[in-house]
Amino acid sequence: MPTPTLMHNYGERTLTLVRGEGNYVWDDRGRRYLDAISGIAVCGLGHCHPKVTEALHEQAATLLHVSNLYNIPPQQQLADRLAYLSGMDNVFFSNSGAEANEAAIKLARKLGNERGLATPQIVVMEGAFHGRTLATLTATGNEKVQRGFAPLPEGFLRVPFNDVEAIERLAEQHSDIVAILVEPIQGEGGVRIPARDYLIKLRALCDQRNWLLMLDEIQTGNGRSGKMFAYQHMGIVPDVLTTAKGLGNGVPIGACLARGKAAQLFTAGSHGSTFGGNPLACRAGLAVLDTLQGEWLIERAEKMGAQLLQSLQIRLGNCPAVVDIRGLGLMIGIELRRPCGELVEQAREQGLLINVTANNVLRLLPPLTLTDSECQQLAADIGTLIQQFTLQAV
Ligand SMILES: *Cc1c(COP(=O)(O)O)cnc(C)c1O
Repeated sequence: MPTPTLMHNYGERTLTLVRGEGNYVWDDRGRRYLDAISGIAVCGLGHCHPKVTEALHEQAATLLHVSNLYNIPPQQQLADRLAYLSGMDNVFFSNSGAEANEAAIKLARKLGNERGLATPQIVVMEGAFHGRTLATLTATGNEKVQRGFAPLPEGFLRVPFNDVEAIERLAEQHSDIVAILVEPIQGEGGVRIPARDYLIKLRALCDQRNWLLMLDEIQTGNGRSGKMFAYQHMGIVPDVLTTAKGLGNGVPIGACLARGKAAQLFTAGSHGSTFGGNPLACRAGLAVLDTLQGEWLIERAEKMGAQLLQSLQIRLGNCPAVVDIRGLGLMIGIELRRPCGELVEQAREQGLLINVTANNVLRLLPPLTLTDSECQQLAADIGTLIQQFTLQAV
């Protein structure tokens, strides 16, 4: 039932999902699927979590939108909560991840402009994904995302991911660098996890050079990694932090947080959004944070993630088709020796929703509410799927 009135920017869609509850979704023929992708790391509390539904009902019947011409109590409450949970000073709310990153990029440029730099540069990584707006697709390290959209904005310098020396060399050639923008774990890039001290070294480099460390936690944030934010595993704090996906459990919301000098860069009129931080989205965000904490879901993500990873390693560690099994919390990637896009369809036939990214990485992003038995089932199903894949002729 493809609709000719939709633009052709998405691939062919062969599944129609019409209902969700907890960790499951149902298609238009009544078939049930375990959702191990959570709307791409969005529905961390599972589908239609009663706390979120209740908050939305209540807010929809009270006040949906007033614009940022006025005080919005849920926006202020959510900002307080996020600042407290992240160690940041203040927050700008957007409607999406890309827009949160746009705000971060504007902060870095504002700093550069204040320093009198004509073309302030932001260091970005190969394999990065930061969104689809013009600035964020330029920051993205994937030619497919950029192709056909010239001219791209300037002001970005690219280095390999997980390579601190490459940035140090860059700093010798460029005196106009103002920030590093990086994902603590590359999500779309294939669940790539850098060395444990990578972020610590980037933090030290930024301190030494007076650059902003800007972390894109749009995918890793909101408990997915087993901490509220992934940098909390490393004991550092960024200067700028962006998040989105899991913050609204399906209600569009993004946030750009800043600390120290970065928190003082925007002044009245510097930036804005009509919808950003509206009462409905912020009530959803508050309900998500309440539930993450009230139901100990971040701890659960850490525990279930470790179990799932271990179980997959036991089942697939010796499998010839598997290059690597890696993850942090409930963000897990299984890198295969060859492209494995067909696994998505095969999993679906078994009632399981998964995703493949970077061509050959099977990615799991299940809800943080995953139960022990669902975790075991998921590991068993993925094990079988990949064993069958190994036997298939190329
Ligand atoms: C999804 C994602 C984005 C873009 O978010 P949108 O809401 O699609 O604009 C940016 N950065 C990372 C790391 C992401 O995973």
